[in-house]
Amino acid sequence: MSARSDFDPIYCGRLTVDLRALAANYRLLASLSASAVGAVVKADAYGLGARPIAHALEQAGCRTFFVAQLSEAIDLKPHLRKSSEVFVLNGVQPGAEGICLAAGVFPVLNSLEQAWRWRDHAREVGSPLPAALQVDSGMSRLGLAPEEVSQLAREAQFFEKVPLRFVMSHLACSEDAAHSSNPNQAERFDHAVAQLPAAPLSLANSGGLFLGNSYNYDLVRAGIGLYGGAPHPMAAVVRLDASVIQVRRIPSGQGVGYGLTFTADRPMDIATISVGYADGWPRALSNRGAAYHRGVRLPIVGRVSMDSFSVDISAISDRGWRLALGDQVELIGPHQSLEDVARDAGTISHDILTGLGRRFQRSFITGSEANPPGAQPAFVDAHR
Ligand SMILES: *Cc1c(COP(=O)(O)O)cnc(C)c1O
Repeated sequence: MSARSDFDPIYCGRLTVDLRALAANYRLLASLSASAVGAVVKADAYGLGARPIAHALEQAGCRTFFVAQLSEAIDLKPHLRKSSEVFVLNGVQPGAEGICLAAGVFPVLNSLEQAWRWRDHAREVGSPLPAALQVDSGMSRLGLAPEEVSQLAREAQFFEKVPLRFVMSHLACSEDAAHSSNPNQAERFDHAVAQLPAAPLSLANSGGLFLGNSYNYDLVRAGIGLYGGAPHPMAAVVRLDASVIQVRRIPSGQGVGYGLTFTADRPMDIATISVGYADGWPRALSNRGAAYHRGVRLPIVGRVSMDSFSVDISAISDRGWRLALGDQVELIGPHQSLEDVARDAGTISHDILTGLGRRFQRSFITGSEANPPGAQPAFVDAHR
């Protein structure tokens, strides 16, 4: 991402989403798997913007989308192609069946009660209502328990009223390839689906896809991999920059930030950066982690506040450089990956991405094979 449009100074920082990298990641995942790859765009596509993300993925060939909640499906569905399907992973709550049907989206049925209610709704409207079905293969989060699968399997009429678009389960430990629960869950999944009418099968998320083709079945549900989350060999999709709002020199012995949890052990140049925990820059990064400027590491000093945090910029001063009001520092980018930030904050990249707030200028880098070779990427600023 070398070409940059201007930083709008009304914003605290800028979140740049490279839709070309997103499309490249989609194509890479699709090429690595013999199965179809659907995109998980829940939580506003992990905070990046469900609509532009889904559009770019449609252009790359994706036709299956997953959200967590019905409200998300209702928001997204009208903006997708007619041929694209949206599935609601958390299922449909009692009384919302008609809304789900009217929205043209499919529930993932996670319990017998949900299954019966959806079947009853099919009876009421007088036509079969397709849905997906989730079985619990060991995570104990969502889906039918083994004995419930057997009970449902005995209800042959159910499947006339509710044709299964696919049967799915979810892996608890897919990021840990050596974990014994992976083969255990696959085995339980096989056992469950053997009792059910034939339908396409889906077990793997991004981590599952990398466990090998035996985990991929017919449909992979990829989330973080599309958005460039490590440990997978994906292209970086997100860049985050923030503005310097004050620079000062402090004497040795002076404290920094709430609680004065940092004390300078020498005269120090400090810059205040206009991003805080209200923007999803985790408070857990207090006195941990860094920002970067021209490739130079600037350690975070003191607590991260709601709207700002401080960095030690002595390494910049030592080089004879100056950091001034309005300059930008890199929070996520070529020198500090999303994964680096997540690790420093003691969490996972999903958590960092979905937390990034609404106060950033948001820019999408577009441009694909449709553009002539060598064309500059187009920037589309979305002020939202
Ligand atoms: C969130 C989610 C995914 C996507 O997981 P990633 O690790 O982001 O790839 C897939 N399936 C289900 C059921 C999920 O809840």
